[in-house]
Order: sequence, then C-alpha cells, then structure tokens
Amino acid sequence: MINKTVEERLLENSDCFLIPDDKVVHVMDEHSIDHAILVLTQARYSKIVVLDREGKIAGLLALSDIVNKMFDLTGIDPSNLEGLKVKDLMSTDVPVITDPFDVEVILNKLVDQAFLVVVDEYNVFTGIVTRREVLKSVNHLVHTINHVE
Ligand code: AMP
Repeated sequence: MINKTVEERLLENSDCFLIPDDKVVHVMDEHSIDHAILVLTQARYSKIVVLDREGKIAGLLALSDIVNKMFDLTGIDPSNLEGLKVKDLMSTDVPVITDPFDVEVILNKLVDQAFLVVVDEYNVFTGIVTRREVLKSVNHLVHTINHVE
C-alpha cells in the first residue's frame, strides 16, 4: 500500500502524466511495415502504439521487432519485410491501465515498462502514461509535499 496523501496528491496531477490519444504517435495494424519504419524513424521512438480501425489497441510495434525479422542466417536482408503489415510483427502483450488510475499499479508497472497504454471502459484507446511524465509528477510532489495549499 502506498501512502494515501501521496496517492491523492499524485492523482491531482494525473492530467499532467496522461499524454492524450491525439498527441500519441501511432500506426494502424493494417499499415505496411515500410510506413511503420517511417513513423518510428520520424518520431525517434523505439516502440509505438498500434491501433485497429475501431480505435482500439491492437498491439505495440518496436524497432527491434522489425530488425529481428530482417535477420536471417546470412545477415540482414530487408527483403524479409516485403509485403508485411504492422499486424504481422507487432506484439500483442500490451501493458494496459484504465482511467481512473490506480497510482500504485502505475508505479509498479512503470518499473518494467517505459510507457503504459490507457483505455476507457469500452476498451478504446485514450492515451499513454510514460515513465518520464510520472517521474516529473513524483519529482514535483517530493519537493512540495510539505507545502500547505
Ligand atoms: P519517455 O518516458 O518520455 O522517455 O517515453 C517512454 C516511451 O513512451 C518512448 O520511448 C515512446 O516509446 C513512448 N512515447 C512517449 N511519448 C510518446 C508520444 N507522444 N507518442 C508515442 N509514443 C510515445
């Protein structure tokens, strides 16, 4: 169990650590791998969200998933990617949380994950919570915990 005051103060700030869906770089499961490489390269992220046509979370696509597919016994062969779609290489093991947030769950999951996917009660994607944004909120809190409003 985490301290109630800490939990409440972090939740007051939860708007700050949610990056809303319209600001999250993503690809669609039906997109080509060529398109996904372009998006990953432009965004400079190593892993991004994959959505389906209903706006639901389909998976996560990492640059390493693409590079692994290019490797074969003789070395790197980009032709191994020909004709592939995002859904062929994405992972479907997605760390998901729901809003309203459980701070303890977020803190525990962010130890192992760089970001968590947020969905609403209909399982529709609403954004992500990243390690950086949560750390910023925790940093703010530990510097202001004794301030009286
Ligand atoms: P950070 O904690 O800011 O380093 O973000 C951790 C990871 O979250 C990044 O490496 C990306 O995979 C993902 N991420 C952060 N911000 C965004 C964004 N605006 N759109 C898509 N993915 C993001």
